[in-house]
Amino acid sequence: MDRHSTADEQVGHTVGVDVGGTKTATVLLDGAGRVVAQDRTPTRHGVEAVARGVADAVRRVLHDAHVPADRLVGVGVGVPGVVDPDGGSVANAVNLGVEGRAPLAALVSDALGGTRVRLENDLNAAVIGAAHHLAASGEGRVDDLAFVALGTGLAAGIMLDGRLRRGPHQAAGEIGHLRYVPDGLPCKCGQTGCLERYASGSAIDAAWPSRTGRPAPVELFEAAAAGDPDAVRVREDFVGAVAAAVRVLVLTCDVGRIVIGGGVSQLGAPLLDALVAELERQAAGSPFLAEADLPGRLRLAPAGVPVGAVGAGLVGRGGI
Ligand SMILES: [Zn+2]
Repeated sequence: MDRHSTADEQVGHTVGVDVGGTKTATVLLDGAGRVVAQDRTPTRHGVEAVARGVADAVRRVLHDAHVPADRLVGVGVGVPGVVDPDGGSVANAVNLGVEGRAPLAALVSDALGGTRVRLENDLNAAVIGAAHHLAASGEGRVDDLAFVALGTGLAAGIMLDGRLRRGPHQAAGEIGHLRYVPDGLPCKCGQTGCLERYASGSAIDAAWPSRTGRPAPVELFEAAAAGDPDAVRVREDFVGAVAAAVRVLVLTCDVGRIVIGGGVSQLGAPLLDALVAELERQAAGSPFLAEADLPGRLRLAPAGVPVGAVGAGLVGRGGI
């Protein structure tokens, strides 16, 4: 099925659930892919609890929108970890307290009385949701894009020629573990100097710990904007590392759009402005980079639209 086709109107309602390490975002989509109900709840941990939590969230959005369960044609669930979309299982979902490989799709389906449930990696779901959002916001169909999650870590979901790029080991988009600094900071992956140690929310937390309880990225960017020289330096280091992630994605895959998401993206315009300025600074010395127009490809994930959950809802239709 082509999710951009006019046949969208006939597919019926689906629910998308984005299960994060701390929060679970859920949306009910109508046949045209519009969000008609939303839910946000703390994530429960352990495979049985995750499955029950997803099923409860599905029932809540149906109830909130007065949509009977028999109008639901499918559920899509995005989870962090190595997902087998055909088998409906996930492995290495340590953030969810799920050990080994777990048949999450079947467990959720059982909890919902047999509804068809499809499982996808959370970043893959997010890039599908981001493509849908760009199309809906007037950019037209986008077949080549990446969704970059600046959260606890750094990773990307990649869509090429309108299809997810997973790779035989589900390792596509793991740009957080590219070496960025020789002999740099140690990483949990066993290497040193990995990009995610410099371009992530955790990197900011470490370099500029929150002083007032507000998110560290907000405090950092405010202090830098106020002229604090230490904050300016930390911000420049961070933005330079994120720019490196953008460069890698464009120069390996030539993705036409890069959507910046994850918790740090809630900084909004100050983050985008700083990234654009850094990429323009780099391009000023390189006609090659200038021609590639990296700044023009950047977009922020929309505030208030949970693109991961929307993408999961589109996965729930099947055919992706
Ligand atoms: Zn690493």
